[in-house]
Amino acid sequence: MFMMLRPDAVVASVTEVTPEFLGERGVRGVLVDLDDTLLASGSDELAPLFRSWFELLRRAGVPVVILSNGSHGRVGRWARELGVVGLPLTGKPRRRAFARGLEHLGVPAHETAMVGDQLFTDVLGANLTGMVSVLVTPLSPGKLLHTRTLRRLERIILKRLRPVRDPATDQTPTDRATNRPPNDQTAYPTPGTCKGELWPS
Ligand SMILES: [Mg+2]
Repeated sequence: MFMMLRPDAVVASVTEVTPEFLGERGVRGVLVDLDDTLLASGSDELAPLFRSWFELLRRAGVPVVILSNGSHGRVGRWARELGVVGLPLTGKPRRRAFARGLEHLGVPAHETAMVGDQLFTDVLGANLTGMVSVLVTPLSPGKLLHTRTLRRLERIILKRLRPVRDPATDQTPTDRATNRPPNDQTAYPTPGTCKGELWPS
């Protein structure tokens, strides 16, 4: 069960989930969370970079569906604005939620990536349904007390799950593979300041 919480990749932002990133993992379709993945909780401002990300995937022929536990109004509004299908109140991490997303994508689970900010909903559900799970740094600490409590728990779990650093060089396997300096990672990197740690599935 613990390993079902392990993301296949950890990135600082959805913008790192490029067509190349997806291609390397055999992914042809994307399910993406809304709150704290694309929009900070309670906010109605979408970063222009995220808008461009939808355009980038559209041009690459990668279908995207918003899979959210958020309300009809909020999810519907952003789905219309971005020109994609948006599924509200899905009940992630239940498998049914992800199955609905796949129906709309028309892509099998193993060729689909779920991109989201929560281990217990986005990553857990994606792993249970055999998708590629991609964890992004949350855009806000969370609006609700229970979200903030879960975030603390997520950080503890992530620390235990993350790749082991080489004590001699303080580098992770990705640091070594990409020849980058040690110690530029934290459990939750600040968006835009970190290249993310790519974990092998
Ligand atoms: Mg979220």
